Amino acid sequence: MIYKNDTIAAIATGAASAGIGIIRISGENAIEVADRIFRAKNPNKRLVDTPTYQALYGEVVDGELVMDEAICLVMRAPNSYTTEDVVEVQCHGGMILLQQILQVILKNGARAAEPGEFTKRAYLGGRIDITQAESVMDMIHAKNELAARSSVRQLQGALSDKIKEIRAFVLENVAYIESALDDPENYSLDGFSKELQDKVQNTTEEVDRLLRTAEEGKMIREGIRTVILGKPNAGKSSLLNLLLGEERAIVTEIAGTTRDTLEEDVMVQGIPLKVIDTAGIHETVDTVERIGVEKAKKSLEDADLVLYIIDGSRPLDEDDSYIKSLLQDRRVIILVNKIDVEQVVDKSWITSNIQAPLIEISAVTGEGLTRFKDTLTEMFFHGKLSMNDQVYITNLRHREALSEAKDSLMRVLDSIGQGMPEDFLTIDLMAAYEQLGTILGEQLEDDLADEIFGKFCMGK
Ligand code: GDP
Repeated sequence: MIYKNDTIAAIATGAASAGIGIIRISGENAIEVADRIFRAKNPNKRLVDTPTYQALYGEVVDGELVMDEAICLVMRAPNSYTTEDVVEVQCHGGMILLQQILQVILKNGARAAEPGEFTKRAYLGGRIDITQAESVMDMIHAKNELAARSSVRQLQGALSDKIKEIRAFVLENVAYIESALDDPENYSLDGFSKELQDKVQNTTEEVDRLLRTAEEGKMIREGIRTVILGKPNAGKSSLLNLLLGEERAIVTEIAGTTRDTLEEDVMVQGIPLKVIDTAGIHETVDTVERIGVEKAKKSLEDADLVLYIIDGSRPLDEDDSYIKSLLQDRRVIILVNKIDVEQVVDKSWITSNIQAPLIEISAVTGEGLTRFKDTLTEMFFHGKLSMNDQVYITNLRHREALSEAKDSLMRVLDSIGQGMPEDFLTIDLMAAYEQLGTILGEQLEDDLADEIFGKFCMGK
């Protein structure tokens, strides 16, 4: 990849009016360019003489025209985000103003940065690897706390460390085989295959464990797709409201494009749920058969979780049998609602022929809510939602590379099983090594890099 260090500039803050706006300039002439458009209040001070991590207060100027008051922060290479010389011009956060100042900066020797170009430079400058670069974008786009935390972990290098560890193991064994073939007197391959078999087995399992976090990773990123199902008046809306009222619920409403379904993002005990709300359809009809069964079925198709809510104060009927038949092979939590009033339902019937925990709640008083939350955590995060040591795969590219690496490792096991010679094993070992390397951005093709960084927002 060609490393360009010409000077680039972009507005780094959001596209909305705000108190402060920041324009970032990076590249070999960043400080000179900034110096041309900035006049310090103290006439003896200039940006070109300012040491790293120091700022000057003054005015942004276009020739003699004063455009704004500003503070310019100087970060000299390699101690900056991009590893290049960087100046951050902090001025007032008006969109027109920022655009105008950016134009003046461009006129004075910088080029408009492409989306993600600052982070691309951080990567090309060797400050972060590609998984870390990707985590920067994930962090910016994180829709919930878990996703944000997971991307911070990735930025800290949790995933890279894990991948490097596995690669080091693979390379070590390839190196040993090659040494033994070159120098059989000092390195013996006696019993090596058997030993390697156990080690590769463990490594394959480790890769598989990482792969299996992808499902959780996706849920962390996008929320657990949750469908609330139940007969009219069972308390679906009340439950949703109860959940929405919990914790600092972040609520967004996205009207479905083709159907009139609403998706609401709800946080339950730190777990992001994307609740697919089919409410509104059942209001006008009274039997389950007619409540747009097709629609309910459709939303069930890609649900990660179904909350089947039952009015505990009303007798069960054939509609409940029908709903139960829809729930086979799904992850379900059964909620028997309205326990604040007299109960008539037969709980043993409800739980027969279905693998699902039953929790009694009251959507009105909130009773049972804690048990529901604990069940949820247990079901999706095995009771521990500690992000401290867990690495989650949240990125499709990583998942594919891991999956390919796993296939290569399986082929190594296969070959050992068939008694193939050691030098033959190195082919698939090296393939696994390279596939894992793509996660870190080694031998990253230019077009892939462009694709990754192209998804960034402007100014990052
Ligand atoms: P939906 O049709 O399934 O969305 O049901 P709603 O949430 O609209 O609730 C139907 C009725 O049941 C409303 O009058 C609610 O106030 C009432 N309701 C919901 N949950 C409870 C509960 O836990 N206890 C009691 N006593 N009433 C409830």
